[in-house]
Amino acid sequence: MKKVRENRNLIFTKAFESAEDNYIPDLDIPSSNLDDIIPKNLLRDNLPIPDVPEVEIVRHYTDLSQINYGVDSGIYPLGSCTMKYNPKINEKIVKLPGFSIIHPLQKKNEGAILLMEELSQLLHKITGMDAFTFSPAAGAHGELTGMFILKKFFEQNGNQKNKIIVPDSAHGTNPASAKMAGFSIIELNSNEHGEIPLEELEFAMQEGDVAGIMLTNPNTLGLFDRNILKITEIVHKYDGLCYYDGANLNPMLGICRPGDMGFDILHLNLHKTFSTPHGGGGPGSGPVGIKEGLIQFLPEPYFIGNEKIDKEKINISHSIGKMKSFWGNFGILVRAYAYIRALGKNGLSRVGKVSVLNANYLRKRLQEFYHLPYQRICQHEFVLSDKNFPNKITAEDIAKRILDYGIYAPTVYFPLIVDGALMIEPTETESKEALDYFAETMIRIYQETQNKPEFVHKAPHNTPVGRLDAVLAARKPVLKE
Ligand SMILES: *Cc1c(COP(=O)(O)O)cnc(C)c1O
Repeated sequence: MKKVRENRNLIFTKAFESAEDNYIPDLDIPSSNLDDIIPKNLLRDNLPIPDVPEVEIVRHYTDLSQINYGVDSGIYPLGSCTMKYNPKINEKIVKLPGFSIIHPLQKKNEGAILLMEELSQLLHKITGMDAFTFSPAAGAHGELTGMFILKKFFEQNGNQKNKIIVPDSAHGTNPASAKMAGFSIIELNSNEHGEIPLEELEFAMQEGDVAGIMLTNPNTLGLFDRNILKITEIVHKYDGLCYYDGANLNPMLGICRPGDMGFDILHLNLHKTFSTPHGGGGPGSGPVGIKEGLIQFLPEPYFIGNEKIDKEKINISHSIGKMKSFWGNFGILVRAYAYIRALGKNGLSRVGKVSVLNANYLRKRLQEFYHLPYQRICQHEFVLSDKNFPNKITAEDIAKRILDYGIYAPTVYFPLIVDGALMIEPTETESKEALDYFAETMIRIYQETQNKPEFVHKAPHNTPVGRLDAVLAARKPVLKE
């Protein structure tokens, strides 16, 4: 404990020192005329910028912020994305000048480096993986990094394995990442329990050209695969590697570790599990953790989290190369560090337990009214469906109507393996009162689908805009000042 406190103090002291000393190097590229840098035909003569008084701008943005909805306004039950409340202390810490105005090229950066070293040690304890790269800028980028590592491993061993098994309950980014790294995909259909059929897995592995499996666990149905140890055993038996999509690590925190389940590579989503606000698409951080035998393939910079490994002996001669400039999205690493340190071991395992408890509480309350395709205890999230709804009510109708009650909608029509899916993740940060309000609203909407279905079909009624053509809005946005 004492050592932990000393180290933490050292990080903050060093961080302050680096901010105070002005160690940013002198400009070493010739400063020149704009015309020399940008070709004349790309420069414009005039730029019509609207002329509006400051106060109008302030009112405009204040208006927008007040019709916006975020996790600071209310519950955000978006499945597969862990939209939990992010403690404000993280934001304070990341704004310390020693973290926010430093540059990776300045001469003194010990505070930042020490923070990343310690973060990798903490993530080692949490996941059981030995070393980490913090380069990836999001979960999907982490998957791509992991797939490159996996590919290089087989190339290095003179092996031509070029296929990856991806279950149909995986996150959609999994097959996309494996494909981008040059693998072809073997899709495995889940069984009636939402789990991987072991015989089919073994059958696929026997072909001999399968490099491994990419497993989202808990999967996109919010279910933990109870055969997880058998799965990794089968894949290893045929010389494959096991990749763990740990984007939604919430329910595992302090309870169990992918590294102990036989996984060789994983990615985490620090912006989900380890608390960074991430609405609107970014920035994120998707560190990749690997077992000792794969260290030589890591991109730089990398950090050894397992203190038993002798750092002097490491060589990364077979690195896959850079995945992002400098340290990745450093601010998110600071937030994750602050979050883990604030909670400690016991706090983290409470996060794990309460995220599961909250989801199961909602599941139990709602399954009397909504169809629950997989009748099992769930992890941090669960999937309902619009099957059996009266009056042709769809998942979209429910999602739109819930906005009228001042709640954000659940994820709809994902995962694809459930028709008309409504995917709900309350997270551990919601109180019982908030969960009850959500459950009672969903039940009231269920009653409305029977009593006044037309009204539900036309929802939302109280929002600034009604039903938008979401596809058209994305493809042909009409932007105005
Ligand atoms: C969110 C998520 C991803 C993708 O992460 P991004 O940061 O959005 O790229 C991958 N897998 C799972 C299970 C996820 O929930």
